Amino acid sequence: AKQDSRGSFHFFAPEMNARLQERRALEQDLRRAVAREQFRVDYQPLMDLRSGRIAGAEALLRWHRPGHGPVPPDIFIAIAEETGLILPLGAWVLTAACHQAARWPAPLVVAVNVSPIQFRHGDFCDTVEAVLRASGLAPERLELEITESLLLQDTEAVLATLARLRALGVRIAMDDFGAGHTSLAYLRRFAFDKIKIDRSFVQGMEEDANALAIIRSVVQLSRTLNIRANAEGVETPEQAEILRQEGYAEAQGYHFGRPVPPEQFAALHLLPPGS
Ligand code: C2E
Ligand code: CA
Ligand code: CA
Ligand code: CA
Repeated sequence: AKQDSRGSFHFFAPEMNARLQERRALEQDLRRAVAREQFRVDYQPLMDLRSGRIAGAEALLRWHRPGHGPVPPDIFIAIAEETGLILPLGAWVLTAACHQAARWPAPLVVAVNVSPIQFRHGDFCDTVEAVLRASGLAPERLELEITESLLLQDTEAVLATLARLRALGVRIAMDDFGAGHTSLAYLRRFAFDKIKIDRSFVQGMEEDANALAIIRSVVQLSRTLNIRANAEGVETPEQAEILRQEGYAEAQGYHFGRPVPPEQFAALHLLPPGS
């Protein structure tokens, strides 16, 4: 680092430069991929714990970066959010997922993750409505997953959009419940259809009494508020059984099925017609 005349530091370390270049290249590749629609959606089963049957699937975006391999969604979605690419990309996922789900037997739902930036964009409801119409998917078979970070700003506008979506018949799930600090406050202000407890609690619950206590209080809360409770990140039969006994309506995780491409999802989880 070199100190300039105003006393602030500038970093010219070669590794810093390389990181910036790499980040710029990643952004460029992402921009190209969005323009060419070079993405895939995987589907992970949502299991109804009472019936033991499949309730639907969560759509999870995948990007194979040419010459590099798969990039974790947490990473490329953050870049898409910073650059605004999340708007076309988010619309693309929504379209792909609704068209896919329209081919599954009713009443299976598809859950689609919505970025706060996408949600707060003026025409989000119009996009959802147009995609539902074009795909022919019944609105109640689309579930939009939002996280509490959405609700940190513009609360009134967000609540108005949630209400408009609800009026369309679409379901709304609060994702990663408990991971932040404000989830509870928002349960007061909007009647979510589902809360998805963050997988960090599920994965800790066998060794950690506090995690188990939170697992219990969230399902109790969901019962009182009449909201469906989902537990994510279920990796073992023991975890699935505890969650079922505690009263979770729904679960997902590697124990039930990993996210897989649509053909594989149908082969693994959907009964062939007529069976
Ligand atoms: P999320 O919405 O919480 O999605 C669940 C993540 O947990 C997925 O990671 C999934 O593959 C992973 N997972 C599922 N079951 C298990 C399990 O049993 N054990 C473990 N360790 N992990 C499990 P993934 O696919 O890497 O996605 C990461 C995040 O990226 C998602 O977290 C979501 O926030 C975001 N994301 C993915 N697709 C989209 C999308 O289409 N739009 C937006 N806005 N965000 C997306
Ligand atoms: Ca999610
Ligand atoms: Ca989640
Ligand atoms: Ca997440």
